[in-house]
Order: sequence, then C-alpha cells, then structure tokens
Amino acid sequence: MRPTVLCFSGLDPSGGAGLQADIEAIGQSGAHAAIACTALTIQNSQQVFGFEATSKSLLLAQAHAVVGDLPICGVKSGMLGTTDNIAALAEFLAEHPEYFYVLDPVLVANSGGSLGDQATLVKAFTQLIPHATIITPNTVELRALTGEQDLELATQKLFAMGAKAILVKGGHEDTPDYIQNSLYIQGELVNQTRCARLEGEYHGSGCSLASFIAGRLALGDQLKTAVQHAETWLFGVLKNAETPIPNGQKIPKRFG
Ligand code: PLP
Repeated sequence: MRPTVLCFSGLDPSGGAGLQADIEAIGQSGAHAAIACTALTIQNSQQVFGFEATSKSLLLAQAHAVVGDLPICGVKSGMLGTTDNIAALAEFLAEHPEYFYVLDPVLVANSGGSLGDQATLVKAFTQLIPHATIITPNTVELRALTGEQDLELATQKLFAMGAKAILVKGGHEDTPDYIQNSLYIQGELVNQTRCARLEGEYHGSGCSLASFIAGRLALGDQLKTAVQHAETWLFGVLKNAETPIPNGQKIPKRFG
C-alpha cells in the first residue's frame, strides 16, 4: 500500500479546503490520505457560518483506529478548532516521534471567517511547534503566532519557539504581480521562489500546498524538494481553479 499521511483536519462542505483538499492533494502527490476529522464546518465558497468541533476523545479514537492498520509515516494538520483538539494532537505526536509532521497553522478561513478563537489557538499552537518537521504559515499567521510584525524577526522568533523548518507563504503580502515564498531550515533561508500572482481569491490553497508537501515527504522527498514539487503543482491547480458563482472564492481543480 502507498505510504499514508494521517491528516487532522475539518470538513468544508464546499470541498475547496479542509479534509477534501487534503485527500485530493495527497492523492495527487502519489501518497494515501487518512483523516481524523477535527470539526464539521458550515461554510460555502464565500463565508463561514460556524462549526462544531469533534471532542478530544473522538478525535484521538479516530487516529488510534488507523495506527497499526495503515502504513502511516507522517501527520499533517489543518483546522484544529479548539485547544482540546490541539492538546489531543500534541499527545498523539508525543506517542509517535517516528512520524514526520506538517503543521499548517490555520487560524481563519481565506474568506475571513472564524475557525476558532484566534488568541486561544495561537497560545495552544506553542505545544505543536516543537513537534513539526515543517510549519507552513502565511504571513498573517506568522505575525499572529509570534506577535512580531517584521517578517524576518517573526521567522526567527518562530525558530526560537522550537520550529525546525518554516515555509513562509507570501500570498497576503502587497506584491501585486507576484507571490514569494521563503523556505527556512534550522534558521537559515534555503530557498526563495516567486510565481505570478493569479487573479482572484482561492479556497483551500494553503491546505492543498501543505498536504502535497506531506504526501511528497511520505514518498521520501527531502524537505526542499517536497516544497518545490508542491509549489509547482499548486500553481497548476490554482490556474485551473473553478469559479462557483461570480463572488465566490475559486475552488482549486486538483484533478485532471
Ligand atoms: N480547514 C478548513 C476546514 C477550512 O474550512 C479552511 C478554510 O476555509 C481551512 C482549513 C484553511 O483553508 P486555506 O487553505 O484556504 O487557508
């Protein structure tokens, strides 16, 4: 069986983000995705209306059910929703130091909707940071996690908080023509990539990128190579993204 990534992620009924993005991206990377569902959200391509989080015991029971059953070699997390779920994941990762771990520190939806209380989540994420093989914040999340506005200082602060590698995604920066991502490993900038900024807003671009990285790590890529593969793949699926209704965020087309 294909190497498996166990994703801790929420359900987005639009299918753009969350666990569906994880399943599709990891499938496209060549690996297999298993899911421990953290929350059921109520949202569409335009906004989040609410969510109900899974209990800590239910979340852990889902994860434990597939350990030993599937060839899991790593974990990826997206929306966790509550401090209980973050504590559950920290517990699970402590039980499995053999797994790599891709931490996508989701705080809000791309549409701006709440996926949990931001201040509480930021505090709780400190438990997960030292477990992560790589953290993939956008610049809004990086500033929120560190309380530091300057991006270089914020990156170094995240390393001081226990990060081992960080992919800083520049999509929220004021660069009208391009998006620049920066990959840091052990405090050092090891790669910077620029791609053309595509028009419009995308639902699930962050989930897709982090999951594809996890899929490639499961297949044995080194970190830098996994990130490069994921960035190239993501650009293609965003270029082909579909617009559900005129004002809706675009849904990445991860197949075909
Ligand atoms: N996970 C869930 C369940 C979501 O609903 C969202 C955003 O709507 C995300 C994660 C993060 O999505 P993005 O990849 O757009 O940052």
